[in-house]
Amino acid sequence: MGSRRRWNGLVAALILASGEAGAHEVDLTQLPLGDGKISTAPQRGFIWACRIDPNAGGAFRDGPWIDKAKGVYDFTKKAVVDGKVTWDGRYRMSLQGERRVFSTNDLPNHPTGVFPIQPGDDAYQWDRNPNSIKTQDFKVELAASPALAAAPTCAPGAVGVLISGAVLFNALDAPGRDAVAHETQDGCQGHPQESGAYHYHSVTTCLDDRRLADGHSALVGYALDGFGIFGRFGEGGKALSSDDLDDCHGHTHAIPWDGKTTVMYHYHATWDFPYTVGCLRGQWRQQDVMTISAPPQGQGGPQGGRPDLGAAAAKLGITESALMQALGPPPPDLAAAAAKLGISQEKLRTALGVP
Ligand SMILES: [Zn+2]
Ligand SMILES: [Zn+2]
Repeated sequence: MGSRRRWNGLVAALILASGEAGAHEVDLTQLPLGDGKISTAPQRGFIWACRIDPNAGGAFRDGPWIDKAKGVYDFTKKAVVDGKVTWDGRYRMSLQGERRVFSTNDLPNHPTGVFPIQPGDDAYQWDRNPNSIKTQDFKVELAASPALAAAPTCAPGAVGVLISGAVLFNALDAPGRDAVAHETQDGCQGHPQESGAYHYHSVTTCLDDRRLADGHSALVGYALDGFGIFGRFGEGGKALSSDDLDDCHGHTHAIPWDGKTTVMYHYHATWDFPYTVGCLRGQWRQQDVMTISAPPQGQGGPQGGRPDLGAAAAKLGITESALMQALGPPPPDLAAAAAKLGISQEKLRTALGVP
């Protein structure tokens, strides 16, 4: 019964996607499937993910909105998790000298679906997300005026915080597929991971894609490196796709920044993969990734970017890089990896904690 609710957010999204300037319309019924668009260096339209963990979760079968043969999915036909649960979101951002300080409980300023996904929900056919949304109080400090690093770096599991108060993960689900296409999310494109952290994999349509005077989108969040994330429209109100942006999904021009106009790098949301950050152009800290992705104690949260391959490698008495090499590019083939390592698949699964 998610169809009516689905359209609430989508009608607005469709209007926004068509763009005032009509530069190019985005067909939400034929979005390119991002599966396999994972790179090991900066590459436009791809995600350079720091790691993919084989500790799979998420949708257990493909919904009919995914057309693998054509390599597209129909965003307007995706199952949407039912519900309209409201939360006491507490998001605050302040400037303290060189630092931009965020505190939030990760509860969004918009309603969410009912989680765990209920058996009566149409979404349950595709994804049985058993997690509940839980408060995650955290504080992070990012650079207030970030500078470009000498070279881009890979994108960890959690890549930023949106001004809705909830965290932004990268474009991949736990097994390393296009999360926006595969994961069943609520009407605001969010859902909780195993420790209850509500998160998105794209910029939620429940945040208005507000426009500045020239048609450029307003700020919708901050990436881990401190650079801004803006909505889906560029200068002159042009609807952006990955082709308009650099390898990390951003570009540089004058933007409003803390009350001033500054020529500065920034990321953009797009409707096409990788949706937000493809890699990071500024410096970031692993400790912030862990803080905002809040994996459960002692467990690797694959979407959160906390490594569990190290622990698995230790259990197997091999190095982490040997294990990663055996697993190969995502999605991992456990049978082949076990053969490469000369161990049984069962032993490998046990070490990885994969059933
Ligand atoms: Zn997710
Ligand atoms: Zn821009």
